[in-house]
Amino acid sequence: MTSLPGRAGNGILADTGRYDLEADVVVVGAGGCGLTAAIAAAQGGVEVLVLEKQVRTWCNTARSGGMIPAAGTRFQRAAGITEPPEAMAADILRKNGGASDRETTLHLCRVAVELVEWLVDDVGVTLAFVHDFKYPAHSEFRMHAPPSRTGAALWADLRRAASARPSVQLIEGAAASGLIASEDGAVRGVLAARAGHAERIGARKVILAANGFAANREMLRRYCPEIAPAYYFGGEGNTGEAIRWGQALGARVAFMDAYQAHASVAVPHGILLTYAVITEGGLQVNRDGRRFADETTGYSEHALRVLAQPEGFAWTIYDARLHHLALGFDDYRQALDAGAVTTAPTADGLAAGLGLPGPALAATLDAYRAAADGRTVDAFGRRDCRRLEPPLYGVKVTGALFHTQGGLVVDAAARVLREDRTPVANLYAGGGTAAGFSGHGPGGYFSGNGLLTALGYGLLAGRDAARAIRSGGRRDRA
Ligand SMILES: Cc1cc2nc3c(=O)[nH]c(=O)nc-3n(C[C@H](O)[C@H](O)[C@H](O)COP(=O)(O)OP(=O)(O)OC[C@H]3O[C@@H](n4cnc5c(N)ncnc54)[C@H](O)[C@@H]3O)c2cc1C
Repeated sequence: MTSLPGRAGNGILADTGRYDLEADVVVVGAGGCGLTAAIAAAQGGVEVLVLEKQVRTWCNTARSGGMIPAAGTRFQRAAGITEPPEAMAADILRKNGGASDRETTLHLCRVAVELVEWLVDDVGVTLAFVHDFKYPAHSEFRMHAPPSRTGAALWADLRRAASARPSVQLIEGAAASGLIASEDGAVRGVLAARAGHAERIGARKVILAANGFAANREMLRRYCPEIAPAYYFGGEGNTGEAIRWGQALGARVAFMDAYQAHASVAVPHGILLTYAVITEGGLQVNRDGRRFADETTGYSEHALRVLAQPEGFAWTIYDARLHHLALGFDDYRQALDAGAVTTAPTADGLAAGLGLPGPALAATLDAYRAAADGRTVDAFGRRDCRRLEPPLYGVKVTGALFHTQGGLVVDAAARVLREDRTPVANLYAGGGTAAGFSGHGPGGYFSGNGLLTALGYGLLAGRDAARAIRSGGRRDRA
């Protein structure tokens, strides 16, 4: 591969004006961001080629809970809740300690309202408003998810909608291996590897929707060292190359140390145990049957606390009320089928079933009950302790890495920005490839930040790319 003079090399190929294939828009990655961008661009009247490196896509969007946050949708209003996007932006900023840009955060929260309604009305995605539990740090109910509460259903709806559009071509098993750029740094296309052949694909606009670098141990060790050894629960495709190509073209990156982890993945089954059982009253103990922290600050930062326990395990304990709540999640039903859930009529019986010390677990539950009844203050500062009534339930869990939240800095239209804040011509990014709103480390992650930036930036990028092509006709110069 020829490197452009003066560039870091790293996946940038000099433009020769000769291509094996051409498209108006090339999207790299067929996850939530890529498919949303493709649908939006096609709706804008341009031809779109989507490249997906996996032969059978099993991306993070498909693995997710499919929970899309938005404050101010008609679905939220129909549930009797009236709040503006500003309220969600305030929650996001509170969670990330004011680290993300206020205007950009608010912009995406406003876009989220339009996004959710567009997904339902124009794209045909089935979403239901979630009003039976709140995630940590959400001051209101504002999640919209498929009835199964799985990202697999969300991704399937997006894929169906993209495939139904004649102007969208989706090629799986085609990995983008670099960007084609002219001397002035303007992006002219993508280099792709398909069936052992390298192809130069010319494009007027390129949208990087390749997620982050959570599957790249080397990048993880460099940017997020504390979580690098942890169990990784996301897609294998997320190896960070798209971020590096942007950097090679002089793009700015931000929040590279930010990531989403999760404190409740059932072991050894590898199934997500919904955090609803914690936020609505459940708790966690370690191997000694003792609690070790306030579980409700956030599942992302709490993952490190779980990993710090003996052997890196915790046990999530809850009751029948929470078991019935969890039955609304496909993942939970899978966990039941897999034998991950133990139940017993008493604390002693549960301890025996889980291999925990009975007296210690009983004492922990007594102390928690006293805090729930208001007789004492919770030792870990948890404010919403709730009574757990027998029969009791327990699942052995560990902390895991889900995805990274740092990446290329983009503007309000999802255009990739250079260090001097001017756009890299013809280049967009979204989802895990773009810098998110999660501040630094695991603690700034606000539930929903993942799909908010994936689908939100996807919509913005697809629309802007189509608009620019239609209005400009020719490719931008740098
Ligand atoms: C278990 C789990 C639960 C989650 N639940 C939620 C939730 O309920 N709500 C929420 O907001 N967030 C959630 N998240 C986070 C959310 O899933 C992600 O933030 C979001 O899906 C990212 O979307 P994306 O389009 O950027 O990436 P992805 O959906 O991962 O798609 C990226 C695609 O790009 C492909 N790709 C990568 N490199 C290349 C290349 N060089 N060439 C071609 N293709 C390439 C990959 O193979 C992949 O298919 C969850 C994450 C996990 C792991």
